[in-house]
Amino acid sequence: MAGQKMLKFTKVERDMPEKRPPNLRKEDFGEIYAEYATAKAEEQASRCSQCGVPYCQSHCPLHNNIPDWLRMTAEGRLEEAYEMSQATNTFPEICGRICPQDRLCEGNCVIEQSGHGTVTIGSVEKYITDTAFENGWVKPIRPHTERTESVGIIGAGPGGLAAADMLRRQGVQVTVYDRYDRGGGLLTYGIPGFKLEKDIVMQRMAQLEDGGVEFVLNCDVGDDLSFDAIRGKHEAVLIATGVYKTRGLEAPGVGADGIVRAIDYLTASNRKSFGDDVEEFDSGELNAAGKKVVVIGGGDTAMDCVRTAIRQGADTVKCLYRRDEANMPGSMREVQNAKEEGVEFVWLSAPKGFTGDTVEGVMVQKMRLGAPDATGRQMPELIEGSDYVEEADLVVQALGFEPEDIPTLWGVPELEVTRWGTIKAEFTTGQTSLEGVFAAGDIVRGASLVVWAIKDGRDAAEAILEYVNQGASVAAE
Ligand code: FAD
Ligand code: SF4
Ligand code: SF4
Repeated sequence: MAGQKMLKFTKVERDMPEKRPPNLRKEDFGEIYAEYATAKAEEQASRCSQCGVPYCQSHCPLHNNIPDWLRMTAEGRLEEAYEMSQATNTFPEICGRICPQDRLCEGNCVIEQSGHGTVTIGSVEKYITDTAFENGWVKPIRPHTERTESVGIIGAGPGGLAAADMLRRQGVQVTVYDRYDRGGGLLTYGIPGFKLEKDIVMQRMAQLEDGGVEFVLNCDVGDDLSFDAIRGKHEAVLIATGVYKTRGLEAPGVGADGIVRAIDYLTASNRKSFGDDVEEFDSGELNAAGKKVVVIGGGDTAMDCVRTAIRQGADTVKCLYRRDEANMPGSMREVQNAKEEGVEFVWLSAPKGFTGDTVEGVMVQKMRLGAPDATGRQMPELIEGSDYVEEADLVVQALGFEPEDIPTLWGVPELEVTRWGTIKAEFTTGQTSLEGVFAAGDIVRGASLVVWAIKDGRDAAEAILEYVNQGASVAAE
């Protein structure tokens, strides 16, 4: 009976993989959670109650077949669990590590709602695919037949790579263009190694390259190569360029040396993890060692910056946020990790300006939460006369990202964008206003999540296949 191994949630406690103690994990950029041992993964998977209507699955953007691969794991049928898991998710080992599970699958697990701890879905998902790689179950991409049609993908982040994978499996010729020197997008240069180690991303890059996906790196489209040239080379094009324009502060002194953008700070740190020479890091400009660091913002990017600064050996690290802890947009799990590692949170505090030509301090205004706005969220209000200066010699602005002005940068005014600057694309296909041009990921949604970029990339790949199939049948007539 399938059920015999399952429904153990009343007898077996929720148990996450071991977390390295803060004093050790602060010393390096390695991931903080260990891998489950096989028996533990089986035990934790067996806690699932095999819901008839699995809310975990409906709240997973990829609609992963969670109850089934949990059951197979509990029964020791790990290779089958892997086959099922990878059928709906291009990068399960990455999502298992960095999805905000508390807001998605695990946050909607019914056994948590009945007072037992949630099934540790993300950790089991990671375990399944890590084990599949170790055992050689992850097969190379070898299409049955090669097709003549080609697709150009601009952007090697999770959205572009998920589409590349699906299209290549169907024998389509795929070229991915990226302005960075390595693929992976924010998986490589945004998200720090303590959440996602870099060899996990590079392992997927190697798999795609081995499967025949061509990568044209160090190629800034719109600058090194025109968008029209790419359109001219391929039957269809996918734009998956993400969002990189930093939302900046407008405050006196903001131009001082020592006030930097989160993306530059994190990219430099990630490059160092690869062993690259990084001038801005080596000069100290983007290195927190020995400094009083203030990070401004309350989202996941801010959490990645504060925890990076701790690992670089900052003297003190403070996070300034204008609302309180309960109203922080960042994942609670990450806030907790940051606190454990020694980050100090300065709630209800907003920057008013900066002192020093090379930054010496942040002029802080204290806030209180006032009446809710139209969305129901309480608005921060100033407390008059409460200003003070927070000492700082490195300030990182982590206030979010917006899209670059692609139609202007690429000289394609016909490419329609929304009033937020994101590319207008059909909901399930990614079709843009231009014939044969599709879009996926953050450039359509605005700053979002890896799992949504994967979902969009997969959806767009299906629509692109249909599009090239139509072209092929017209050509054959
Ligand atoms: P990206 O990953 O941004 O990739 C876009 C690619 O396009 C890049 O490689 C870029 O170089 C390339 N590109 C852009 N313009 C051009 C051009 N003109 N020519 C050529 N190439 C170009 N999400 C989570 O789910 N969990 C997390 O823990 C998490 N942490 C995050 C931490 C940070 C610091 C940041 C910034 C984001 C985080 N996110 C997280 C969000 C997640 O990384 C993004 O939602 C996701 O990467 C979007 O994927 P994408 O493929 O749309 O774009
Ligand atoms: Fe949960 Fe993300 Fe995996 Fe879906 S992809 S099951 S949301 S961890
Ligand atoms: Fe299992 Fe929880 Fe999903 Fe129900 S909601 S199927 S208990 S993981």
